[in-house]
Amino acid sequence: MPLVHMGDMLRHAYQHKYAIGAFDVVSLDFISGVIAAAEEKQAPVIISLAESHFEYFDFELLMAAVERAARRTWLPVAIHLDHGETLESAVRAINLGCTGVMVDASNLPLQENISRTRSVVDMAHACGIPVEGELGYVPGVEGEDAERHPGNVVYTTVGEAQAYLDATGIDFLAVSVGTVHGRMKGEPKLDFERLNEINRVLQIPLVIHGGTGLSDEQYRRLIDNGVTKINYYTALSDAAGRRMKDNGSNHAATGYTDIAKGIAGAIRQQTARCIELWGSAGKATELLEYCRPCRQVDHVILYNVDGLDTEGVNSMMQEGQRVLSAIPGVREVVTGHAVQHDASYRHCWLVRFADRAVIKSYKEHADHQRFANERFRPYAGGRVSIDFE
Ligand SMILES: [Zn+2]
Repeated sequence: MPLVHMGDMLRHAYQHKYAIGAFDVVSLDFISGVIAAAEEKQAPVIISLAESHFEYFDFELLMAAVERAARRTWLPVAIHLDHGETLESAVRAINLGCTGVMVDASNLPLQENISRTRSVVDMAHACGIPVEGELGYVPGVEGEDAERHPGNVVYTTVGEAQAYLDATGIDFLAVSVGTVHGRMKGEPKLDFERLNEINRVLQIPLVIHGGTGLSDEQYRRLIDNGVTKINYYTALSDAAGRRMKDNGSNHAATGYTDIAKGIAGAIRQQTARCIELWGSAGKATELLEYCRPCRQVDHVILYNVDGLDTEGVNSMMQEGQRVLSAIPGVREVVTGHAVQHDASYRHCWLVRFADRAVIKSYKEHADHQRFANERFRPYAGGRVSIDFE
């Protein structure tokens, strides 16, 4: 189970001066290509899913594939929500299996950015999940990503970054030092002096968005100045698009599988190049030893019921599934009845937590307390409850 704590991952990268790629995926081909490249290079990897891309795929369905891919490989992997806009987005991502979340309120005034970020940090940390915030603004290039990232560049300032970090408690900071979302037009100019100062003062892993189109030397200097996570999507998307155009120019290729052939391979090539360039190649084994694994906890309750008929029990279970599965850090709520008629306990709950930390935050959550005190405990006479890891 090589899903590892993303905070540990990036701390290691920060201390050893390399960067881990956070590759945005939009399809199974992207997932396969990114994982294949990471395996080839024996590198840690972050698989990202951007909320701004949710119109192109079903987040819940793709998350299931990402999680399976992450658990199947031996590499250290983290799964990250990229550009989450709200607290609700972050809760949903964690409950679907993200092991890190970004809250992007960078287009809001500082105080509003702080308060939204703070609410996500409080929730996510109570679930054992680290948070990336953004300060300053990385816009999209006109005609490309401008609709998803409208407006002009706003550079991150050191003073605001310090205030933002102090007020929010974020784990990683996405900074704006001259990159853009989409393809760079002309020679990109990056403000390394600014980055150097931010890194000197903050001393936390820094993140670059709009990683496509920089020179090898620019990447090296970013990493020298505290950048440990590089978000990368446009070049992957272009590589996939080129492959499809090439396939389509062959007149014998008419169906979907003909056109889509080889996309994973194209993604793999691009990803492998980045991994090599950013210094994370060969780091997988060392990281597996260094990072805490992400371990889910199964909260199991076996119980009998007094004073409710079968219909009453079923309606209580249905309500529980609805209410409890919305609590932050709850991956799944399963209910069941004993198959054997002479079983000592007739019913069960299995509530799956994203992390050990959720044992406490779940117990204290108002919705859980209300349900437990009003709907469950008054009727659940004999019961045993155990948390399994
Ligand atoms: Zn971004």
